[in-house]
Amino acid sequence: MNIESLVRRNIRELVPYSTARDECGLESGIFLDANESPFNNGFNRYPDPAQLKLKQIYSLVTGIPSENLFAGNGSDEAIDLLIRVFCEPGADNIVTISPTYGMYRTAAAVNDIKCTEVPLEADFSLNPQKLLKACAAETKIIFLCSPNNPTGNLLNKDSVETVIRNFRGIVVVDEAYIDFSGDGGFAGKVNTFPNLVVLRTLSKAWGMAGLRVGFAIASAPLVSFLSKVKYPYNVNTLSQEKAVSLLKRGNRSQLDTVIFERERVASELKLVSDVVEVFPSDANFLLVRFKDSKEVFRRLLNSGIIVRDRTSAEGCRGALRISIGTGSENTLLLDRIKGTCAGNALSLLCRQRSTAETMISVKIDPGGNLVNEISTGIPFFNHMLEQIPVHGGFSLQLWASGDLENGAHHTIEDVAIVVGEALSELVASVPGNNRYGFSLPMDESSASVLIDTGGRAYLKWEADFPAEYVEGIESDMFRHFFDTLSRSMKATIHVKAGGTNAHHVAEAIFKAFARALRTALSSSGDDTKIQSSKGVL
Ligand SMILES: *Cc1c(COP(=O)(O)O)cnc(C)c1O
Repeated sequence: MNIESLVRRNIRELVPYSTARDECGLESGIFLDANESPFNNGFNRYPDPAQLKLKQIYSLVTGIPSENLFAGNGSDEAIDLLIRVFCEPGADNIVTISPTYGMYRTAAAVNDIKCTEVPLEADFSLNPQKLLKACAAETKIIFLCSPNNPTGNLLNKDSVETVIRNFRGIVVVDEAYIDFSGDGGFAGKVNTFPNLVVLRTLSKAWGMAGLRVGFAIASAPLVSFLSKVKYPYNVNTLSQEKAVSLLKRGNRSQLDTVIFERERVASELKLVSDVVEVFPSDANFLLVRFKDSKEVFRRLLNSGIIVRDRTSAEGCRGALRISIGTGSENTLLLDRIKGTCAGNALSLLCRQRSTAETMISVKIDPGGNLVNEISTGIPFFNHMLEQIPVHGGFSLQLWASGDLENGAHHTIEDVAIVVGEALSELVASVPGNNRYGFSLPMDESSASVLIDTGGRAYLKWEADFPAEYVEGIESDMFRHFFDTLSRSMKATIHVKAGGTNAHHVAEAIFKAFARALRTALSSSGDDTKIQSSKGVL
């Protein structure tokens, strides 16, 4: 099949915009060719228009050759470009399945291209003959989605291949969710079928929805047509760099967790009387039919849980699409669906911070509904941080990923910044006096912590550690943690502690801090509250 003959004439004849950097071919030098600012702030230069490093690492991770990769601003960009390359506005059309991802129809409409939808079978399987019969002479692209959104099922591979072999145009197989399916998908077939385009994204299994990076995988000539039409700098520098570093980090354990949780949630939902059907899923979401989906949707929303109502999609009457969250999020969801929870609204405090050294994400539930999850990559630090929600009376989910190869310093400091900001907001939500304290003995060790949440940052540190290191962490790092915390929390913190076991000393400090915090968060009139600066422990 000659792909070039399928391409719109104006695109075939298009002389693409050539960027300054395309022509020079030099990696380093004095760049006076693109009217950029000469002052280096990390971003004063245009990004690599060919995204070589990004494609190289994606190629390494997936085994797909770089020359078969087109990188876009999300795979949504590739959907739009495919339509613009192959479909003549006002004349051509596309064919897709129903229900499916809405972007195919939207991107077509924007380009004045009609979209014919062919319903899937009752079990959401693909009937290739029915699909091919719906194609006319003007049909230039067929969009398939496997695993399909919102139905969750992988399409039968032989059926998909029948479509590819028998259609005289482009067949796009959108594999946004393929990593959750255990199937290798069609990426390995793009050099066998010149009319095949596979779409992949970093938005789902790779957890980079905010970066907007997606790929179209196709034979090299087809890729070159997409590249010709794209904006020269379609993937920005930050996204390219961050995607490279996150791809290097891998996603295996997160994938395993999501797949495990999907199966757990599915099997628990099947036992719920309000549930009519849980459709089999090869993705990171479940399509679930309820007796009364409107009521369940409202109930969840009232609890602060947002799911997607798909009840108006073809064959999806009464169905909600529910993404798989973390273990405790899913447990909360199940509780609310089962109706075993009182239905208090969740009001979560969320904080995020990302720098060159660390990425931190913190979620606090003042009501204590979430399971505490602390992950910093530093086991003893995790253990200390766990004391804060457990003894503070709320729940805390903290995820930190830092440059631990350079030591624990950045991670501990940045966790203190983000946790402090969240605690500051938490404390501000409770009216009352500002000064609290707690003394705590722990075997031979003890700690007293006083806090004043009134807005002045100050740390008084009189902790006596009997050893320079505690479980691999320099004991001075605890001073540094509370010093940073006092600033980000805008609180005065006085710590007095000592003992003969360094582990106990650290633990007593964190527990006493959390206990002092708990009194700060409890309703006014609590008699453990310090009423004046003279009152004391
Ligand atoms: C989420 C999703 C995408 C992702 O699009 P991006 O633009 O890469 O974020 C693509 N296709 C389907 C079917 C999806 O559900």
